[in-house]
Amino acid sequence: MLASKKVTILPGDGIGPEVVSAALRIIDAAGVTLDTEVHEAGANAFAKGVESGVPRETIESVERTRVVLKGPLETPIGYGNKSANVTLRKLFETYANVRPVRELPGVQTPYTGRKLDIVVVRENVEDLYAGVEYMQTPGVSECLKLISRPGCEKVARFAFELAVAEGRQRIHCATKSNIMKLTEGMMKRTFEDVACDYPSIEAKHILVDNCAHQLVMRPEQFDVILTTNMNGDILSDLTSGLTGGLGFAPSANIGTDVAMFEAVHGSAPDIAGKNLANPTALILSAAMMLRHIGYGKAANVVEQAVLVTFEQGVRTGDMTGTSRALGTIEFTDAVIANLGKTSTTASSRDYKDITPPKISNAGVGHVTVARRAVVGADVFLETTDETDTIVSTLNSALDGSNMRLLSIANRGTTVYPSAGQVNVALVDHFRCRFVASQGAEVTDAGIVDLLQRVSGKYSWMHIEKLQQFDGADAFSKAQG
Ligand code: NAP
Repeated sequence: MLASKKVTILPGDGIGPEVVSAALRIIDAAGVTLDTEVHEAGANAFAKGVESGVPRETIESVERTRVVLKGPLETPIGYGNKSANVTLRKLFETYANVRPVRELPGVQTPYTGRKLDIVVVRENVEDLYAGVEYMQTPGVSECLKLISRPGCEKVARFAFELAVAEGRQRIHCATKSNIMKLTEGMMKRTFEDVACDYPSIEAKHILVDNCAHQLVMRPEQFDVILTTNMNGDILSDLTSGLTGGLGFAPSANIGTDVAMFEAVHGSAPDIAGKNLANPTALILSAAMMLRHIGYGKAANVVEQAVLVTFEQGVRTGDMTGTSRALGTIEFTDAVIANLGKTSTTASSRDYKDITPPKISNAGVGHVTVARRAVVGADVFLETTDETDTIVSTLNSALDGSNMRLLSIANRGTTVYPSAGQVNVALVDHFRCRFVASQGAEVTDAGIVDLLQRVSGKYSWMHIEKLQQFDGADAFSKAQG
């Protein structure tokens, strides 16, 4: 836990300033004085030409305070600007995104009465959100899904520590490892290894598509869900929906040095500036922040006041079945009036400090193997030639080389040697797999020679070495 009571406040975009102001009023009324620094990030920063959406002064403030309470930041969709949120998460290596949801009294949902109390722990900096994308040809795009063993280990250990600290029983690890055996499989394998250190917590793996299905059908079976970045983004919006919607879902981005607290929801531009936003998600995020900086009692007081407010039937307009809704400001007034009262219907948790894994950013471990070998190379080409023509062209280019063409795939489906499929819709992007003619190891000089031969015939845009680590293939096989 960080001892600092300094906090960087980022009011953010859209409804951000309204809900952040609500949370700050409640913190103040709960008797906690924070040393705040208010800064900008998001739409205004982009408009001023800050490419990352996070100005230098904001970064310096976070480096000083190490704790952030933030409103949602708008991300321009499409080409150009990066996400200011992703920038913040990556800059400060907040590797664990914690998204708890629970049944709230009087917040009617199809699941009311099932006592849902689920926390999604989402890996927060890797995966497709590394943002490494390329146009491979004018009509074919690529996004690299980067998943590391140290990245998985940090967040997996954090999830188990959180389960222990909050007295939870079970962790499901949700991945798509049946299809992405190396990347999603990395999270599954790491989870299974880390689970051995926490025998008191039940550890189960679940495929992410089934997890989504089970969350809708029988959500009460879930306690903690650990997952990769993209899966977690989607699953945590789903879990928000189970307990009332985005207006109620808080979150924390936890790193070794910095923690950022924010609602799961975005800037909801359609209701911005109208005193319509539900501030609950940001208020509950602020309570998580108070707990993190050592104000556990005040955090409980704030949470209880929110629960009591709902028990009294006080509502914002986004709640199902609301006939007379209060505005953001009036709802906040009601919560303030309830500070010090305790809910009579909602169960509460005995929170203990979480011991984050002792892995510094500098000390991220590298995985080593005893044996490694390069057994071939995949070269990605752009061409509109027929497959037979590509085969004969490459074979003649390889005349006298000690590499041979093994296979060709188009969007992952093998088109040579042909398995007889006639319905593959070809695009102008082929992955050609080459191996050494005699099954020997492939040298860098051999790969350079291969590329020279290929580039004499075709435009290539990408090459991957085919490696083996300790005798096991470190690459996927083509489908079909
Ligand atoms: P959104 O802002 O979460 O809004 C989706 C809808 O959810 C809103 O139109 C509104 O629905 C409802 N809603 C969300 N929060 C609410 C609240 N506190 N009170 C009442 N209703 C609420 O999602 P989006 O429209 O996809 O994203 C808008 C912008 O926010 C984008 O630029 C996106 O990049 C950004 N974003 C930022 C973050 C972040 O900073 N962490 C997260 C997600 C999205 P109604 O139509 O029913 O009013």
